[in-house]
Amino acid sequence: MNKIIYLDNAATTKTRPEVVEAMLPYFTEYYGNPSSVYEFSNQSKQAISHTREVIAKALSVKPNEIYFTAGGTEADNWAIKAAAEAYESKGKHIITSKIEHHAVLHTCQYLERKGFQVTYLDVDENGLISLEELEKAIRPDTTLISIMFANNEIGTVEPIEEIGKIAKKHGVLFHTDAVQAFGHIPIHADQCNIDMLSASGHKLNGPKGIGFLYIRTGLKLGSFIHGGAQERKRRAGTENVPGIAGLGKAVEIAVNTMEERSRKEKELRDYLIEKVMASVPYTRINGHREQRLSNNVNFAFQFIEGESLLIMLDMAGICGSSGSACTSGSLDPSHVLLAIGLPHEIAHGSLRLSLNEENTKEEMDYVAEKIKEIVERLRNMSPLYEDFVKKNLK
Ligand code: PLP
Repeated sequence: MNKIIYLDNAATTKTRPEVVEAMLPYFTEYYGNPSSVYEFSNQSKQAISHTREVIAKALSVKPNEIYFTAGGTEADNWAIKAAAEAYESKGKHIITSKIEHHAVLHTCQYLERKGFQVTYLDVDENGLISLEELEKAIRPDTTLISIMFANNEIGTVEPIEEIGKIAKKHGVLFHTDAVQAFGHIPIHADQCNIDMLSASGHKLNGPKGIGFLYIRTGLKLGSFIHGGAQERKRRAGTENVPGIAGLGKAVEIAVNTMEERSRKEKELRDYLIEKVMASVPYTRINGHREQRLSNNVNFAFQFIEGESLLIMLDMAGICGSSGSACTSGSLDPSHVLLAIGLPHEIAHGSLRLSLNEENTKEEMDYVAEKIKEIVERLRNMSPLYEDFVKKNLK
């Protein structure tokens, strides 16, 4: 096989050709600034309104509750910092979880340095938060709960509807980072009592550098980027019109294909998991077995180093990840894998493969075969494995 097998769709996805096509006219033909008054800029204005409507429909919310951002990171920063500031007079306590993306964790740490208090909830061995622990953590000065919809490393989907109920019962705002879930799992924001939701274009076959924050009507959230009057004075800066047009097309397609796509991905995911688990001993699957993203596979192989496995898979044409893209390059094991209780040495031997509907069974056969071969080779070089085998043969 000499083509690339791309299994890193949680890091980013291929932009669909229909999406690129939808973007092109806004670079060359309809390049007017949407804030301008002349008719020429109407096409740009319309592209923005159209995408706002498409997203609002997908979440069952109102179009004027959608605010475009430069991606998931900005949306997370905005939601958490602005909510903390807006409701500061009520209290300075925030609840989140230990397995959030760094866009949330580092924002919370920033707020701690500014005098806020943050509770980082533990998760169980599957990556699920405890609803009882969540309710116990709520204090009179708690203003915000920020819990991700689905985890980017191990794929676990959190009990969002139940979290929303608890937040509502206690009068606390609920933000969810849905960057990995939006366009992949049906989301009804109101039914889940979600007050703010972050999402990103490049995780659903849309362009990079564009995302949005849903802000429920009535929230006092202030502006995050100061300047002009764009986005109803809440997010200044000339709009990324081609990006917004592309995001609209990507969301439209993602919503229309969700059911069939998830079914295909799940089938391939389970096929790959079963093949690898059956052929590679001392392997575990990280993340919840059922409550997980349809395209997420995360293995922990004992006695090997995930980075070496990644390099050797790369040489075989397979793109995967040893954790989140943001933590790769660092030698610390992933905070998510440590939070689910994996010891350092096992966390280090983890591999995340995130599929897409274009993958095939033949590719999964090839990947499973390569994993088996490479893990065996790496274990044969591992003194830890040698000790283990000797001990067990005695
Ligand atoms: N939140 C989660 C769960 C993510 O997986 C990512 C990206 O990996 C982000 C936030 C950041 O999104 P973006 O790359 O659009 O800034």
